[in-house]
Amino acid sequence: MTAPNKTLIVKCPNCGCSVPWTPEQVSKPFCSERCKLIDLGEWAMEEKRIPGEPLSLDNDNCMDSEIRVTQGSVDENDSFFH
Ligand SMILES: [Zn+2]
Repeated sequence: MTAPNKTLIVKCPNCGCSVPWTPEQVSKPFCSERCKLIDLGEWAMEEKRIPGEPLSLDNDNCMDSEIRVTQGSVDENDSFFH
């Protein structure tokens, strides 16, 4: 119940398309190397102070993409109600 075998699908933080979380998907959570470079490039320019930690970068991106999606919908709902 706690370990589903089906492939996890994440959204590309750059273009928002679905990306299967598989070992073959080397650019995950991005759909492609291009989206990865674009997003990381913008991210690096906005947040130059964040130290690079390659080992945890994948995990951070995963969490970040999920948080972004959640915050986005919450934010829209919130402004709708106000
Ligand atoms: Zn993409």
